[in-house]
Amino acid sequence: MGFETFGKVSFTSETKAAAFVDYLAQGKVMGTRCKACGTAYFPPKMDCPSCPDSETEWVEITGPGKLIAYSTVHYGPAGFEDDAPYTIAVGEFGNGLHIFSRISKDIKVEEIKPGMKLKVVPIKLTGDRLSYEFQKA
Ligand SMILES: [Zn+2]
Repeated sequence: MGFETFGKVSFTSETKAAAFVDYLAQGKVMGTRCKACGTAYFPPKMDCPSCPDSETEWVEITGPGKLIAYSTVHYGPAGFEDDAPYTIAVGEFGNGLHIFSRISKDIKVEEIKPGMKLKVVPIKLTGDRLSYEFQKA
């Protein structure tokens, strides 16, 4: 499986990180970590920009993380017009790892506050497509 089943609109078909989508199907949101310098990456990078001969390994993002910033989108971009309103956010998940994701629509907008605990969870979209979102930890 590749990225053709990822997200509502997929911009990538060929990628060295295609296993990311397989992990989503298994119920896991994964990042990568450089075996040489230990830097963690999300979205996953298969090559560490700091280590020319680096090898990376897959690491599950378990959390919980902490909400850093968020914004509610009222007018979605092309392909997402029908989704609005939805809330996008950045969460911090330890070791400086920042994750950008939507926040679940199950969390009411008035409940969303910086510092709240989040987990990042695989979700199924229509048409057997896969993505991930922040849910309450
Ligand atoms: Zn590295």
